[in-house]
Amino acid sequence: MAIRKIRKIGDPVLREKSKTVEVIDKSLFSLVEDMIDTVSDEDVAGVGLAAPQIGILKRVIVVFTGEKFETFINPEIAVLDKKMIQEEEGCLSVYSVKTSVSRPKKILFKATDLKNKSVTIEAEDIAARIFLHEVDHLNGILFIDHLKPSDRKEFLAKINRNNIF
Ligand SMILES: [Zn+2]
Repeated sequence: MAIRKIRKIGDPVLREKSKTVEVIDKSLFSLVEDMIDTVSDEDVAGVGLAAPQIGILKRVIVVFTGEKFETFINPEIAVLDKKMIQEEEGCLSVYSVKTSVSRPKKILFKATDLKNKSVTIEAEDIAARIFLHEVDHLNGILFIDHLKPSDRKEFLAKINRNNIF
């Protein structure tokens, strides 16, 4: 059990594509424990974390589902409702500075849990947003990539102005 360092924007690992998990073994359990410790740390307090955010390029995410963090392995998403919803969004790798991001309203989320059972969830609005955000991380995508180029420029300038980098 350990709190790991969260990789920040500019770190090349956040731009890599993560690899499919082939076996659920001790090392994966230990990775997941570290991810949950890290995201539930009082200084961090996030609602989700993807393995690349602690520098591990495996297709694993943890998401707070209302009561606890649940682990999803090799997640996949199909969009069920293409209607786009604008909502404030932040990321632990982007210093939790928030901005409005457009995402599909409804998705079908499929993954494997730690017991190697398949999980299917229909998620809407904020829940859909969290799954989409975390799965993006596994493909080297950050939420700022969904902004219009001019908005992205302005957002990055705001982070720079605050000397966060
Ligand atoms: Zn994020």
